[in-house]
Amino acid sequence: MIEIDLSGRVAVVTGGSSGIGLATAELFLQAGASVAICGRDGERLARADALLRDNFPDAQLLAARCNVLDDCDVADFAQAVSARFGHADMLINNAGQGRVSTFADTNDDAWREELNLKYFSIIRPTRAFLPMLRNTAEPTITCVNSLLALQPEPHMVATSSARAGVLSLVKSLATELAPQRIRVNSILIGIVESGQWRRRYEAQAQPGESWDDWMIALARKKSIPLGRFGRPEEAAQALFYLATPLSSYTTGSHIDVSGGVARHV
Ligand code: NDP
Repeated sequence: MIEIDLSGRVAVVTGGSSGIGLATAELFLQAGASVAICGRDGERLARADALLRDNFPDAQLLAARCNVLDDCDVADFAQAVSARFGHADMLINNAGQGRVSTFADTNDDAWREELNLKYFSIIRPTRAFLPMLRNTAEPTITCVNSLLALQPEPHMVATSSARAGVLSLVKSLATELAPQRIRVNSILIGIVESGQWRRRYEAQAQPGESWDDWMIALARKKSIPLGRFGRPEEAAQALFYLATPLSSYTTGSHIDVSGGVARHV
């Protein structure tokens, strides 16, 4: 792995209390960056804070409760980052979750909720952190998106549609912010091991069936060429690349982290 020293840099990871966000926070701490994470559930956040401090006793770490869909929460979070670190260099828009429903099962409220989540989980933190990003040397915004943006699934109709819109939003932001030297990119993930998949395993596995066996069977059923789910740290590594000067000539782009599921050339 290429060594990169991010001491003095500040990474802000929304939804950093679990899964991909937590793995991303770990990577940035490993590289010497200061890190701010947020989430809604205070207990989950406290557990993540304790884990990161155990692993990185000297961590410059801020863990704040914040719902990224709430303007006041996001403004308070940005204010807390400014007060603690003075600036922010890298914003990782990761907070969120998917919605499993077909067109027949998705009512207007569900559509609004899903579109609101997917768009405003990016719009609100981006707007709040832009003033700080503008004042740093190599600012970046990196978003977690899904391969559903390019390859929609009928059983996730609202999520797929919103993901396609987010891909366009990332491109527009990249173009508008390029003159301000702010690079904007995203990752398109397939299935990554996370709390939601663990819960499905617990609900659906046959008695005695291990997580690995269940996951590999599902990966086969879903025709994932690499034959398994992704791990949070694998998504985190792609985010890290796009957020840091390792990708200094890349903007408005995305990295596929789907284990080969994408069917297009
Ligand atoms: P996790 O459930 O493990 O983590 C989600 C994180 O986001 C948690 O920290 C959660 O904390 C936080 N979060 C969710 N909603 C909000 C909110 N409104 N405001 C602030 N924080 C929030 O899931 P993953 O790590 O798997 O997911 C990370 C991202 O990747 C999500 O955007 C998800 O949609 C996306 N994704 C994941 C896939 C997968 O297979 N795992 C596939 C495609 C996309 P809390 O609930 O306490 O707020």
